[in-house]
Amino acid sequence: RAKEHGRNHYCFYTPEMSVGAVERLRLENALRGAVARHELHLHFQPQVGLRDGQLTGAEALCRWEHPEFGSVSPEQFIPIAEEIGLIGELSTWVLHTACTQLMHWDEAGFRLARLAVNLPMNEIEKADLVERVQHVLRRTGLEASRLELEITESMIMRRLDVAITTLQALHELGVTLALDDFGTGHSSLSHLKRLRVDRLKIDRSFVARLDDDPRDVAITRTAIALGHSLGLVVIAEGIESQAQFEILHREGCDEGQGYFFGKPCSAGAFFAHWSQQPIRADR
Ligand code: C2E
Ligand code: MG
Ligand code: MG
Ligand code: MG
Repeated sequence: RAKEHGRNHYCFYTPEMSVGAVERLRLENALRGAVARHELHLHFQPQVGLRDGQLTGAEALCRWEHPEFGSVSPEQFIPIAEEIGLIGELSTWVLHTACTQLMHWDEAGFRLARLAVNLPMNEIEKADLVERVQHVLRRTGLEASRLELEITESMIMRRLDVAITTLQALHELGVTLALDDFGTGHSSLSHLKRLRVDRLKIDRSFVARLDDDPRDVAITRTAIALGHSLGLVVIAEGIESQAQFEILHREGCDEGQGYFFGKPCSAGAFFAHWSQQPIRADR
């Protein structure tokens, strides 16, 4: 790092730009070997029924623990992986690791109903996605409906026709589909009815100020009604407080996810906590 070399260190580039560019290049190079070096792992965040507080599933969130950079946020390394052509390998690893984890928990007598995985931006446009998902399911022996794939509106809007076809094929495969970060993209309501999704995840930007902005309550109420009228299960992301929880419960939201119920944590910690709790049997 230029900064660490002190002020007298000669640089032929401007320090401001160079730190970013050099850092970025080093991140890129480190990321190329991260899967092989076992630096990536998954964290798990609980999803909970708002009526009974019981565990309904979890979302798997990717973590990169680099010996030198420390823990790198997925918001930082997923876009890099996309740019340098690593995202296919990475998302296959995530899928496989998530399904394997669920099977391990089954064997340990902890039956988590469903595990959600985030699909990267243009994965939905790739011709072999359905085949890859099918392959992972076959290899791990996991029942398709227990794998949930999260997609965003912006992913779908890039190439709507391809996305609709792929979602239909995934639906036929039996996997559960969720629309993530709902309300932040710019899809129109007419598109929503054509998408074969099962679950709607209300983005946490609407949840964050629920307790002091009535407009967010209005938007959330509408999203819940919309989801329900399309036959979808509605889940709110980013619930951090009792007050947010109570409002969402009152508004009839089905499920919640957020620090209030549990932060994303390692497989071991997730098991230790949640395998002791009752699990809802109906899904
Ligand atoms: P996301 O799918 O919307 O995931 C939810 C994010 O919100 C996670 O951040 C989670 O840690 C955070 N979160 C959950 N509850 C709360 C809360 O109560 N308060 C606040 N402030 N935050 C909360 P994370 O793990 O940093 O992931 C960020 C994004 O990176 C994810 O957003 C997802 O889009 C992406 N991502 C994570 N893992 C993967 C992966 O394996 N593959 C792909 N393609 N993308 C991933
Ligand atoms: Mg997600
Ligand atoms: Mg989200
Ligand atoms: Mg997000």
